Amino acid sequence: MTAPLEVELDRVTKRFEEGEGAALREVSLGVKKGELVVVVGPSGCGKSTTLRIVAGLEEADSGAVRIGGASMAGVAPQDRDVAMVFQGYALYPTMTVRENMEFPLKMRKVDPAERRKRADEAADLLELGRLMDRLPRQLSGGQRQRVAMGRAIVRRPRVFLFDEPLSNLDAALRQELRVEIGVLVRELGVTAIYVTHDQVEAMTLADRICIMKKGAIQQVAPPRTIYEQPATSFVATFIGAPKMNLLEGRASGGMIDCGAFKLSAPAGKRLPERVVVGVRPEDVRLVDPSEEGATKLEVAVAEPLGAETTFVLRAGDVELRARAPGFDPRAKGSSVHASLARAPLHFFDADEAGGRIA
Ligand code: ATP
Repeated sequence: MTAPLEVELDRVTKRFEEGEGAALREVSLGVKKGELVVVVGPSGCGKSTTLRIVAGLEEADSGAVRIGGASMAGVAPQDRDVAMVFQGYALYPTMTVRENMEFPLKMRKVDPAERRKRADEAADLLELGRLMDRLPRQLSGGQRQRVAMGRAIVRRPRVFLFDEPLSNLDAALRQELRVEIGVLVRELGVTAIYVTHDQVEAMTLADRICIMKKGAIQQVAPPRTIYEQPATSFVATFIGAPKMNLLEGRASGGMIDCGAFKLSAPAGKRLPERVVVGVRPEDVRLVDPSEEGATKLEVAVAEPLGAETTFVLRAGDVELRARAPGFDPRAKGSSVHASLARAPLHFFDADEAGGRIA
């Protein structure tokens, strides 16, 4: 038997303004109990709208939302058993940390002893114990975000909805809180939908990633599947940094002509004549000129990052992103040879949809 879905969007469509394109187009997504699904995509692709429709803050034009199997049609946000954590914290400035955390319970007329107990439990989990009597302005950004999470936790909601909760924080704190959120969500065993435009958050936090583009879902799959078998050329370039190389190729007679690179087509694969070939930067090998498939290119950009050096290489019209371990001595303007002869290749249709060719 398949596990029941805790949250389900069924062909949800939403248009904000007449004449404008739809913000969401037939979005269908099922989230299982205890699962953390990260919704990711470029600005304006419809991530927040999806979340707001689950929360009941926006209404869908058509399609259905179900939580715990029950239709949410006509159910007010406060009656949905979901808690939302935003990027803006939205803490009450004149209330202490404790008062902020207890507030949702007070609204629900939970008795004071129980309120206190739940706030203390949340404070323990989030290491906020010694800050309970402070006001929000006496806290750092990271601490405020923890209080906002505490306020969601005390309610023990069925579903957590995170809308870019870390985007106001500096890089080091983002990383720290990202790890904490992952641990917390798993410890509590709650179901969560987490919206971000940050692919690192998506890869590290998600049980499954949902990638959106222009109001439609491109792929929903575990992080590793997304990385190794991207469903479209858009997904292929959205996840992974530096991003996957996409080369325009012409296939004929078992060979693919990609300009500077002539590749052999994998045996048994049927390719259309026009095809897009995807190669991850880590699969581009920098080699001796004598090696199989060695092609001469010029280093256009070399960026030493410490653990690795990333390159942009050029030969004619072809531009190739590559990476090499540690501090690589090859400098801008120098010549290198690269081979794709043994690289795992991804193939996509050359049309707008860019579907993966299996
Ligand atoms: P970002 O990462 O920038 O927050 P997003 O993926 O969350 O983007 P949404 O906020 O869901 O995107 O917006 C999707 C589309 O709907 C955008 O084109 C946006 O301009 C439009 N939109 C969102 N809210 C409204 C609104 N209240 N009125 C009109 N258009 C809206």
